[in-house]
Amino acid sequence: MRPARALIDLDALRHNYRLARRLHGGRAFAVLKANAYGHGAIACARALAGEADGFAVAFIDEARALREAGVTAPILLLEGAFDAAELADAARLGLWPAAHHAAQIEMIEKAILPAPLHVWLKVNSGMNRCGFPPGALRSAWERLAASGKTSHIGFMTHFARADEPDSSVTAEQIRVFDAATRGLPGERSLANSGAILAWPDARRDWARPGIMLYGADPLPGDGGSGLIPAMMLTSRVFAVRELAAGEPLGYGGRFVAPRPTRVGLVAMGYADGYPRSAPDGTPVAVDGLPASTIGRVSMDMLTVDLTDLPGAGIGSEVELWGRRVPVNRVAQGVGTISYELLCNVKRVAFEWTGSESGTMKPPVRPS
Ligand SMILES: *Cc1c(COP(=O)(O)O)cnc(C)c1O
Repeated sequence: MRPARALIDLDALRHNYRLARRLHGGRAFAVLKANAYGHGAIACARALAGEADGFAVAFIDEARALREAGVTAPILLLEGAFDAAELADAARLGLWPAAHHAAQIEMIEKAILPAPLHVWLKVNSGMNRCGFPPGALRSAWERLAASGKTSHIGFMTHFARADEPDSSVTAEQIRVFDAATRGLPGERSLANSGAILAWPDARRDWARPGIMLYGADPLPGDGGSGLIPAMMLTSRVFAVRELAAGEPLGYGGRFVAPRPTRVGLVAMGYADGYPRSAPDGTPVAVDGLPASTIGRVSMDMLTVDLTDLPGAGIGSEVELWGRRVPVNRVAQGVGTISYELLCNVKRVAFEWTGSESGTMKPPVRPS
């Protein structure tokens, strides 16, 4: 069997969720959008069942999959409903849609619903992506409250720069949110992971931790936050080759051996989600020891420098990211963020481990 695997540590996920919830206080939606940032939304939801106050996903199909898997906790739809049929489904399934523009209010007013909706009104406090302008919030709330279609109306906003502890933008967004919602009844939700970690002033009724659940710290600097990486992306060396000084390696001959070089071929490529843009020198761990990639990443394999690891060879385990190789370090090297790397992982074999993973239903096998 090809050894490329993503090992998901559900105990780490639970540890990180508890940490987020304890730091923030109140309640916390575990954000499971994009298949739990590549970690498997159903497995993650089950691991957090009985623990998480609620979950958040981007849109209704992601929520439906969780309901079909038996998840009963509240589920926040961060993008809200895209049409009236989705609103009716949301009401039926007990989903909590966000409403972030006037057309969604109109949709709710006109909707024929099987049950009243728990709606989260989204305020644009400065990110300028979605959300009601602060000055339009009160009338949006009044319309919703008068529609007779809602059971609860909460208020949320999203930060553009919560992962920048030195920026004053988040404090300003908090001020704008508070001013816009002053006097309006309902729960509040402001903080994503960055704000949970760096902005105590953003703590309200509900937190919305995403990336920190998976153990990647969104703040600059190397950790200290107590998060545990939930994913180990791993594979093995399946062939070894010696290069003479001056010989090129792989596509484009990007790497040329500056000295006699022992190269390990690793079963992991960009089709598995490992970034093709990884430069020479991207960190990996081979049998637990620091090493680095050399040469271009191919679709199905990549190459690592084993010259200084004489004990390593065919069968050696290679960690691409995980506890030894922070995904943030790989992301920095390729000019992206941990979020993108994690949610791109595919094709590899997924294994979920953890003390309560035995409560998960086994996968359905074709008979
Ligand atoms: C994705 C998302 C989150 C989670 O953000 P992290 O930075 O991963 O913690 C929170 N709120 C909204 C609206 C989101 O879209």
